[in-house]
Amino acid sequence: MVNTLYPGAKIGIIGAGQLGKMLAQSAQKMGYQVYFYDPNPTSCGFDVAQGHTVGNFDDREKLLDFVQTVDVVTYEFENIDGDLLQEIEAQAYLPQGTTLLLNGQERIKEKTWLNEQGIPTTQYKEITVIDDIDVDMGYPFILKTTRFGYDGKGQIKVDSDHDLAMKSEAIQNLLAEQPLIQEAYCDFAYEASIMVARDLQGNIKYFPISINQHEHGVLFSSLVGQTFDPEMTATIEAIAGKIAAAGELVGVCGIEFFVSRAGDILVNEIAPRPHNSGHYTIEACNVSQFDQHILAITGHPLIDVRLMEPALMINILGQHLPRLSEGMAEFPNAIFHIYNKGEAKTQRKMGHFTITNPNFTDLADLLAISQTLKT
Ligand code: ADP
Ligand code: MG
Repeated sequence: MVNTLYPGAKIGIIGAGQLGKMLAQSAQKMGYQVYFYDPNPTSCGFDVAQGHTVGNFDDREKLLDFVQTVDVVTYEFENIDGDLLQEIEAQAYLPQGTTLLLNGQERIKEKTWLNEQGIPTTQYKEITVIDDIDVDMGYPFILKTTRFGYDGKGQIKVDSDHDLAMKSEAIQNLLAEQPLIQEAYCDFAYEASIMVARDLQGNIKYFPISINQHEHGVLFSSLVGQTFDPEMTATIEAIAGKIAAAGELVGVCGIEFFVSRAGDILVNEIAPRPHNSGHYTIEACNVSQFDQHILAITGHPLIDVRLMEPALMINILGQHLPRLSEGMAEFPNAIFHIYNKGEAKTQRKMGHFTITNPNFTDLADLLAISQTLKT
């Protein structure tokens, strides 16, 4: 069913962090009214909405009441209980769907589902007790909590037998909470990601691929240029298209990849919503990931994506905020986004900035700039 909504319609967004906030800013420029649902009474998204409800993500009654007050529901938050999400889908209009989210919110299920679609991932194993750990997988490997992880939280890298012994207490502590996934470590040449969008009619559009650098598990920078390998682009787009179609996506989805030194392309994880590595699209593309998501869920056709300029996006974490004025002076051509999230905790994403430059001819130039900023 294609249900086209027009300016004045009410969009309900579950989750009012920075992704919700930027979705709201896109929706409002198009004339929609935005209502948020989030447990945090000082959520940054609330600043830019017509209204909000403070409630827990597992408060079934409150959430079901909320979704009935809007014309269309979307989510930026992934950890909603599966059964509750399906109730929301039955009682309200949720074109974004649940298939991708339900297959992606638990790491073992995510990799199993991807492999079933013929999409390669790292080798993995479910760990429920410490003796399940398979040292024959080879070192290094990474143990991760199967649910609720983000920005590298709940992950332990193990380098050797000795390291495993040293970290066994920390591993036991994680296991006391939930099962873990043991993943072979991918000695990648680089990490890449793509934002894919799909509309109600099943049309798919791809945003340009970005090359991402992580620091301590948190995205540090994304680089986007015009010189990305065409063969690699075709492979990554084919995988993204398969995920969007099989996952019955409506809206945007971010897909993270490892590109191995041998050129193998493995999917690391999927995020069925706007994604940090797609923030560059606000300044560098003719349509942003947020615009495209709002177009899709309101039943409008997607816009053909063009990269206007090569771009470098850098995250601003809590520990960087005290140097904000210095950064602004150093990059007078950058657009700074500050989310106004409150407490500037170390490693917490507080904002980002994007430098676009038509003279960046290749990714190596951008990478060099990015490296100099890392210190
Ligand atoms: P999160 O949900 O916290 O983003 P990820 O699985 O994406 O979790 O891990 C965060 C980062 O840690 C990745 O972007 C990558 O840099 C590194 N990493 C995670 N898993 C692996 C792996 N199997 N091999 C190599 N690096 C990894
Ligand atoms: Mg990730």
